[in-house]
Amino acid sequence: MRSAELKQLALECGFDLAGIANAAPLAEATHYLDWVSRGLAGKMGYLADHRADKRRDPRSLLASARSVLVVGQLYNAPMPYSTCFDDATLGWISRYAWGDDYHEVMRARLKRLDTLLQGHTPCETKICVDTAPLLERPLAQAAGLGWIGKNTCLINQQQGSWFFLGEMLTSLDLDADVPPPDRCGTCTRCINACPTEAIVRTGHNSPEWELDARLCISYLNIELKGEIPASQRSGMGRHVFGCDICQDVCPWNRRAAVSTDAPWQPRQIAPPLAELAILTAAEFGSLFGGSPISRTKYQGFLRNVAIAMGNTADPVFRVPLERLAQSDDAVIAEHARWALGQLKSSVECA
Ligand code: SF4
Ligand code: SF4
Repeated sequence: MRSAELKQLALECGFDLAGIANAAPLAEATHYLDWVSRGLAGKMGYLADHRADKRRDPRSLLASARSVLVVGQLYNAPMPYSTCFDDATLGWISRYAWGDDYHEVMRARLKRLDTLLQGHTPCETKICVDTAPLLERPLAQAAGLGWIGKNTCLINQQQGSWFFLGEMLTSLDLDADVPPPDRCGTCTRCINACPTEAIVRTGHNSPEWELDARLCISYLNIELKGEIPASQRSGMGRHVFGCDICQDVCPWNRRAAVSTDAPWQPRQIAPPLAELAILTAAEFGSLFGGSPISRTKYQGFLRNVAIAMGNTADPVFRVPLERLAQSDDAVIAEHARWALGQLKSSVECA
């Protein structure tokens, strides 16, 4: 099978972007390994442990690999951006988490693609969706899907940056695509808009900017388990899961493509904080089962809700926070006590 045929098959299997990269060492691995060695991955041990070195070369996952098919799955829904949203009674959920968890959906689509490929041209393959030690964004860039913006997201000139990525390594020797030019230019909107100044200079030119994950809201409210340092809580705003600000402000997302694909249609966008605060563990499980939000687990989610209520400063949240402060869960209770300390007194607000 030739490159163009495989990419066409990928589109027929439901993907929105498809490109081919060589299965070869990636120049970006040098910066990646330096990034983790400086501790900028925070407590995300899976990025920094023995698997980090495997990311140098896709062939560490499939020795016979000659090519990598990279696919993009658009998940953008036709809903407002978080930066246009000012109802202080609601918590914000990151756009990628409005629908179903993407891992299984994309894996099933890649398996179907693999079956079609094997029926035509038997070869060795390996399917990867997020969890394998691959440098997904540099590979997607090499496969011509877009460039890596200063916000560290992959940006497609026509469709924007609201994509999940997946890969199929193959022993087929396919024609590789050409990476597009970097079209960020002199723009610094994402850097200026980041509320926690998490996009920082590298001190060199390639890349010029990097993410200090330890400062990023998405790291704090998803990846970081247990206590969030008190000094970082007020910067988190009302984001109860993830943060999209550096993508919301990106000019390439002004007219971003929208998906009509069933799995990504929104379940919850900005639920009322007062309703989230009274969820039981069982209700959390039934509301967010099969959604990326389940990754925080109940404790992490209620912790985030408490911080969000505190950051409104609105005394309307005193009663739910007092209830959370009595929680048997020490992490939830401590964050609720912190949040109570952020509320204005009713007299001040009158
Ligand atoms: S996701 Fe939010 S906190 Fe993280 S870099 Fe982007 S704007 Fe900053
Ligand atoms: S906001 Fe500007 S600098 Fe940031 S990723 Fe988008 S185009 Fe690049």
